[in-house]
Amino acid sequence: MAVNGLSNLETRHFINNEFVESSAKETITIRSPYDDSIVGTIPVADEHVVDAAVSAARKAYETGPWCTFTSAQRAKCMLKLADLIEQKTDELAKLEAASMGQPVAVAKGAIIPTCVASIRYYAGYADKIAGESYKEEDGFYKIVQYEPIGVCAGIAAWNATLVFVAWKIAPALAAGNTFVFKASEKSPFGPLVVAPFFKEAGFPPGVVNFISGGGSTGALLAAHMDIDKISFTGSGMTGRKIQDAAIKSNMKKVTLELGGKSPSIIFADAELENALKNNAEGLLLNSGQLCAAATRVFVHSSIAPTFIEGLKARFEAASSTMGDDPAVPTTALGPLADKKQLDRVTSYLESGKTESGAELVTGGGQIGEKGCFVQPTIFLNPKSDAKILREEIFGPVLTIRSFETEDEAVELANDTSYGLSAAIYTASMSRALRVATKLKVGTLAINASYFPDAQTPFGGYKQSGTGRESGKAGLEAYLQAKTIKINMGV
Ligand code: NAD
Repeated sequence: MAVNGLSNLETRHFINNEFVESSAKETITIRSPYDDSIVGTIPVADEHVVDAAVSAARKAYETGPWCTFTSAQRAKCMLKLADLIEQKTDELAKLEAASMGQPVAVAKGAIIPTCVASIRYYAGYADKIAGESYKEEDGFYKIVQYEPIGVCAGIAAWNATLVFVAWKIAPALAAGNTFVFKASEKSPFGPLVVAPFFKEAGFPPGVVNFISGGGSTGALLAAHMDIDKISFTGSGMTGRKIQDAAIKSNMKKVTLELGGKSPSIIFADAELENALKNNAEGLLLNSGQLCAAATRVFVHSSIAPTFIEGLKARFEAASSTMGDDPAVPTTALGPLADKKQLDRVTSYLESGKTESGAELVTGGGQIGEKGCFVQPTIFLNPKSDAKILREEIFGPVLTIRSFETEDEAVELANDTSYGLSAAIYTASMSRALRVATKLKVGTLAINASYFPDAQTPFGGYKQSGTGRESGKAGLEAYLQAKTIKINMGV
């Protein structure tokens, strides 16, 4: 298949280190959110395809050459894989632009480098998975060793597909697991380009398998009796279904990376230009389609008018640049991922304008008639139960409210069912750390918008998920402890 000038693109499932035909007839067509043209079609993996992928991963885990690989061999394959992905950066970026409208500048500047860095980071961990021992004091010498979990699966969202490939598959491989990955049906092509790199990098057949499909394929994975662990990135609604399916099937271990409604608190002593720059760029990167985006802004009343004017100007400047092809290297802001996402975001804009009690400061509508572009939008002072304040929108939309005291800012920031991320802007580091400790969030930036990195854990408090990806915690999520006790009296 050819995608926007990229020829010979494979769209079949990748199982046992080969692209294979699908038994199922169902397909999903992906349309460009820039011009609505057809980008390509993927087969939907049915029960038979899912079973084939899982049994390939099981065989590779139990009896394949993979179980004899030393940790150094695993690391060597992973480092080669990272190089191969890095070399294909241009093509991968074009595919993200074509399928879900992510500007190539964003894919090349942030997403693919984060993917590559994460794979290299976990390659470094492969031969450093140590255990513990306890000398005899109660008749037993004790050993704790950390072992892989087995056959793991990953189901991903579409907004940073290759980051999810790395965050899920790389720690699993470093720990010695095998994997079945399903990308989002909105951005399925990048992982299919990456799939044969696993073979080229030296991973034996069955170690990593890629299948395509939508919710029905994801549900088959979540309910599968032979998958030992599943890691999911996506909405809270789907996350609940996955947790439920895991409990009702084989109690597979579950990591959930879900949505957010993250606060940004700007104190009166904050460096204003820095706060404006980060609140604007942090939200608008990927057109607001970032789980950690700070969408609830709380600003001290003494600087609120100046801050709101400044942010409005930046949003309007950004809006005036939107509408360009995300495949063009100079395009900074792309469309939303597809028509469904456009409908979702515009319905929140309508709710904001008609029932939230908020003042529309700027934006509030679609840009042009072609493509899925939405104006960067600010709502001021929504009611405390407004949908635009309570629910994740996943578009370039934020709310602003002012506060008087530090305690009030903390209370407002924590008044949400989510807890993924936060940002604090202040010149006082003691205040920043005091507030950071009180915020119920898994990740937080001081005087910056939050962006994940390879070394530190990423994940949420409350309904933003369970478990962590990235960092050492992301590796531990693919290991299980085994305790061995030796009777020293025998
Ligand atoms: P989604 O829940 O609609 O879909 C995510 C994935 O789940 C897709 O691959 C989809 O095919 C699959 N799926 C759908 N129904 C399923 C089912 N019943 N069983 C199993 N799988 C199923 O989410 P989305 O629209 O793709 O992504 C946006 C959401 O992802 C937002 O809420 C965003 O905040 C969240 N997100 C979270 C993180 C994080 O790391 N915390 C990162 C990015 C995105």
